[in-house]
Amino acid sequence: MSKEYDVVIVGAGTAGLSAAIYTQRSGKSALVLERLSYGGQIINTPEVANYPGIAKISGFDFAQGLYDQATALGAEVVFEEVLSVERDGSDQIVTTDGGTYKAGAVILATGAKNRPLGMEHEEEWVGSGISYCATCDGMFFKGKEVAVAGGGNTALEDAIFLSDYCSKVYLIHRRNELRGEKHLQEVLRAKENVEFVLNVTMEELLGTDSLSGIVVKDKESGQLRQIDLSGLFIAIGQMPDNSRFAGLVSLDEGGYVKAGEDCTTSASGIFVAGDTRTKAVRQLTTAAADGAVAALAACAYLQTR
Ligand code: NAP
Repeated sequence: MSKEYDVVIVGAGTAGLSAAIYTQRSGKSALVLERLSYGGQIINTPEVANYPGIAKISGFDFAQGLYDQATALGAEVVFEEVLSVERDGSDQIVTTDGGTYKAGAVILATGAKNRPLGMEHEEEWVGSGISYCATCDGMFFKGKEVAVAGGGNTALEDAIFLSDYCSKVYLIHRRNELRGEKHLQEVLRAKENVEFVLNVTMEELLGTDSLSGIVVKDKESGQLRQIDLSGLFIAIGQMPDNSRFAGLVSLDEGGYVKAGEDCTTSASGIFVAGDTRTKAVRQLTTAAADGAVAALAACAYLQTR
């Protein structure tokens, strides 16, 4: 016999746990299914200083607070990997590697991973000179020399943001052309402390226990260049992991679940929240906001089915 819940939430990051809080506070039962550990991407951020109303908190403490709040309200968090979601009449059947659950509605809150460069020491030095989030970690590098890897809007916005208080910002990109908006390129080109290092490949991350620099190679001349740095911000895109839901909801060309600000998907009874949905701004605040919107939409849907 499968256990029954009003709402099953897939993913225990900020969006998923926020959805659990709003579901429970609406008088409905929430089960959160999580493959690894609760907290999502934010647990890797040493200091969150851009969440309205909280001047400073570690990512870990923020995640712990969310988890404690959701579970104190009665949400259950179970560590199992979701394998499929299928409709059965007006119910949703959620199958995991540990069992089967029946739900009235499902909220997909599976997040998105930052695409890594895939270089030696990259993972090891996250928080020790390497970051995937300029708005979260940029202030740690005030007055220092940093680089941003990438040529999309995120990289350009990160470089603009960092140039306001870092002594120098290198923008490292693999092609001569930048993918990001022309306007952002123009803003960046007008900055005196920004140097474009284009058409290069990243060859090496330098350092012992933390990052101290990088080596890049010019794709045309083959010339190697060492750049001493205090920080490297990697902004080469995101990777959602929604392939198992491709038959359930419509995905966009990047693999994100198609949905607007109301967090409803192409499938009745399936909602989506946070970084895993099509959206322009992926921040802690927008993930929490999505959790609330998706949960309230799911609870309203439960009254109508
Ligand atoms: P993105 O647009 O996919 O750009 C990723 C960048 O990283 C590209 O320049 C790409 O190079 C480079 N890249 C990818 N894989 C790489 C690798 N293995 N090694 C080195 N470089 C690599 O990603 P994003 O900037 O995170 O933006 C994601 C989406 O959000 C986009 O649709 C973007 O427009 C949107 N966004 C919008 C705003 C805004 O509207 N204000 C702000 C941020 C993001 P190539 O160019 O050579 O492929």
